[in-house]
Amino acid sequence: TEEPIYCSGCGIQIQTDDETAAGFVPRAALNHEPVLCRRCFRLKHYNEVQDVSMTADDFLKLLSQIANADALVVYLVDIFDLTGSWISGLQRFVGDNPVLLVGNKEDLLPKSTNPNKLKSWIRRSASDFGLRPVDVLLMSAEKNHGIDDVRQNIEYYREGRDVYVVGATNVGKSTFINHLIENAGEEAVITTSRFPGTTLDFIGIPLDDGSTLYDTPGIMNQAQAAHFVDPQDYKKIMPTKEIKPKVYQLNERQTLFLGGLGRIDYAGPGRRSLIVYTAGGLVIHRTKMENAASFYERQYGRLLTPPSHPVQLPVLKRYDFRTDALSSDVVFSGLGWVTVKGRGARISAWAPESIGVSLRTSVI
Ligand code: GDP
Repeated sequence: TEEPIYCSGCGIQIQTDDETAAGFVPRAALNHEPVLCRRCFRLKHYNEVQDVSMTADDFLKLLSQIANADALVVYLVDIFDLTGSWISGLQRFVGDNPVLLVGNKEDLLPKSTNPNKLKSWIRRSASDFGLRPVDVLLMSAEKNHGIDDVRQNIEYYREGRDVYVVGATNVGKSTFINHLIENAGEEAVITTSRFPGTTLDFIGIPLDDGSTLYDTPGIMNQAQAAHFVDPQDYKKIMPTKEIKPKVYQLNERQTLFLGGLGRIDYAGPGRRSLIVYTAGGLVIHRTKMENAASFYERQYGRLLTPPSHPVQLPVLKRYDFRTDALSSDVVFSGLGWVTVKGRGARISAWAPESIGVSLRTSVI
């Protein structure tokens, strides 16, 4: 076996197998001395932060440092995959520190989305998860939209304290941090600092008054959309631009499939509009409710894609709803949502266990 090599920047053990994990170095770069992991390399040469993942255990160890600090926690979530954005255990580790919740990827939602309704939904989900944020903000890190507002709110809520930016992987944390670095000005020195008991350092961006904003490694969350399909399929379910709604007029006892990953049964009463908000790559298919189960078995991974490579038929969990708002959204976290018009509709939604399904008052 080979001798372990350690990054001369942050001290993490070097590995060449997993590009997304901490300590990665391309095999060819091992010959260059001193060895820097990709994350430190990018930071050193491009002043650019790249997200790396670490195990939940390591991450929680890291987070436990936050509970002992007096700081503002900025928690980034992906509003398209909210269920996948909640990091279990975070509530404990935040301690008594205030949490500013920032919903990213606002650009994916239709322009007609009501930001206040969206925020109150995020607030309610956070509360179900055991978090009481001091405020909820929306932004699009990629489109550089709303970032100034987030920065001003961070200044306001931190009251001179340090800031920790936390989030699950893929929520857009690096995109956000990189914008902060850009705007910190040319002289801004990016510092790194190590926390006791951990191998991975935090990246710190100095703030005006001598405090520091720390980027923390993103945590892998198995409930995230990125994990229940393969990378090719992930591109199909993750929209890259504003979602285009598709309208279906359903009769009683009809079913819509969201590829092989979701199913919504409309039992009645009457004929009704269902509006599907998902990425274009997800095949929407209508059947009769009584045929839906056998249709699913036959067509999973065939007509009903993604997944385009069916391994094994997943067990679908069933959720029963009765709508009580003029317009309700059945949310399939990571896939999108289906708006059901009118009160009193009897709906059953089905999805693999890892895809969170919930009902909200329509955000449009
Ligand atoms: P991290 O893992 O949290 O650091 O996330 P990244 O910044 O690497 O972003 C993950 C993915 O989400 C990338 O494909 C980004 O292009 C995308 N992304 C980040 N921010 C946004 C955003 O505001 N809108 C959209 N549509 N995509 C975003």
